[in-house]
Amino acid sequence: MKQEICIVTDRQEYGSGLFALTFHAPQIAAEAKCGQFVHITCGEGNLLRRPISICDVEGEMLKIVFQVKGEGTEWLSKRSPKHKLDVLGSLGHGFNTDALGERPVMIGGGIGVPPMLYTMKNAKANGATPSAILGFRNKDAVILTEDFEKVGTTHICTDDGSFGTHGFVTAELEKHISEYTGVCACGPKPMLKAIAQIAEKAGIPCQVSMEERMGCGIGACLVCACELKLRDGEQGVRYGHVCKDGPVFDAKEVVW
Ligand SMILES: Cc1cc2nc3c(=O)[nH]c(=O)nc-3n(C[C@H](O)[C@H](O)[C@H](O)COP(=O)(O)OP(=O)(O)OC[C@H]3O[C@@H](n4cnc5c(N)ncnc54)[C@H](O)[C@@H]3O)c2cc1C
Repeated sequence: MKQEICIVTDRQEYGSGLFALTFHAPQIAAEAKCGQFVHITCGEGNLLRRPISICDVEGEMLKIVFQVKGEGTEWLSKRSPKHKLDVLGSLGHGFNTDALGERPVMIGGGIGVPPMLYTMKNAKANGATPSAILGFRNKDAVILTEDFEKVGTTHICTDDGSFGTHGFVTAELEKHISEYTGVCACGPKPMLKAIAQIAEKAGIPCQVSMEERMGCGIGACLVCACELKLRDGEQGVRYGHVCKDGPVFDAKEVVW
């Protein structure tokens, strides 16, 4: 884990309150793994950093994509080239694409789409033939599809049918499930739960990136607890911390 003061080199506004920032983070980029996140100080008065997933890494550059939610992400959306960012990373346990076989599928829902790009690139770099299924509310919320299409077959769904296939990513997954050897996913919890059930029924491995509100980001404050199934011989309740043990968990471990 490194802390770097990073210079922003590019800013894009996608619309619908969605932004992308690229910044120079040589030390963090050197060790970043797919599915990990960075923790960014968002403004002078904001003591708690904000966790944002790594969307892409190219050389010494790191790209993040985020939705404006409150004060922190609002501040972040106003950064432009030459501004500095105080970034801690890379944090957490990411996806293990080696465990997903030769034909893994990367599934992203809404703001869960960005981390699946670097994950898909990673699977391809490791010799797999990855596909993607990406779900968005409507055509205004559609992002990054051209980047995914450069890496592999990409199915796009929208809730209202205004772009791509009309419907949820889960329907698309069920349609193509026999083509895949493993699944990894990031998005809203009900979507992850449904994906985990489909993968289990098909008998293929599934990894999910869980999102919880976070404090310190390094396992010290215990804010981001997520209940996990007990292991053999264990009693009581078992919690994992999204920041340290996750954000990626084996779907079979999670108490849905
Ligand atoms: C591991 C991880 C990776 C993430 N990656 C991304 C990403 O790539 N892009 C992105 O846009 N966002 C991502 N998030 C969510 C992002 O961290 C929050 O949206 C951000 O912290 C909100 O900060 P804020 O100061 O703008 O808003 P706040 O004022 O802190 O909150 C505004 C609203 O957002 C809600 N909110 C805050 N944090 C979360 C959260 N973790 N999950 C759900 N709702 C939340 C609050 O309940 C509140 O309603 C990630 C979160 C985690 C835990």
